[in-house]
Amino acid sequence: MPTKKLNNVNLQESFDRIIAGNEHWIQEVANDQTGLFKELAKGQSPEILWIGCADSRVPANQVTNTRPGDVFVHRNIANMCIHSDMNMLSVLDYAVNVLKVKHVIVAGHYGCGGVAAALSQKQFGLIDNWLCHIKDVYRLYRDEIDAIEDSEAKVNRLVELNVTEQVFNLCTSTIIQNAWKERDDLAVHGMVIELTTGKLVDLDITFTGSADLGNVFAYKH
Ligand code: ZN
Repeated sequence: MPTKKLNNVNLQESFDRIIAGNEHWIQEVANDQTGLFKELAKGQSPEILWIGCADSRVPANQVTNTRPGDVFVHRNIANMCIHSDMNMLSVLDYAVNVLKVKHVIVAGHYGCGGVAAALSQKQFGLIDNWLCHIKDVYRLYRDEIDAIEDSEAKVNRLVELNVTEQVFNLCTSTIIQNAWKERDDLAVHGMVIELTTGKLVDLDITFTGSADLGNVFAYKH
């Protein structure tokens, strides 16, 4: 069936690029001699769950130089892990309990627009309710953030602290805690991407069990 023409020339051109890109991709698949695509058609067994920002500049596969099939991905604005977010929880549950991933990576990035917006007093609309979760992180570290004068440095430090808190949110979830009761090959990491270099910086806040979470947060029964 022929595709209906769009009402605007620029809109049509950018849509055509998507279709052309797909045709190029199909050609690559047809020419692939490695057997990768035949393998992918059978199923997936990625070792990594990547929870990243929806920002177009931080695609999981390119940043980690991995191939299709290597990384299970969830992305949202400012890489948030919110305990009542059924979308994130469903991805986490499937990745941890069905795919049995070994690494869960929360990946923020410096210069994150979501974090910068959360640090401002400007209203952006519906998204403000999402950004409030980042404002809550700011509230925990208010003294440290307020002591930083440079506005860019302020945002970048909150990016790091936000990743730290999201890692903690994952670790305190029943999904991760119950998985740790069953196996010892599951690590939760916090990392930040430098947009200017592409480098993935390890924040060195890796958890491999609930022992370090402290009272209340670690389930015993
Ligand atoms: Zn971002």
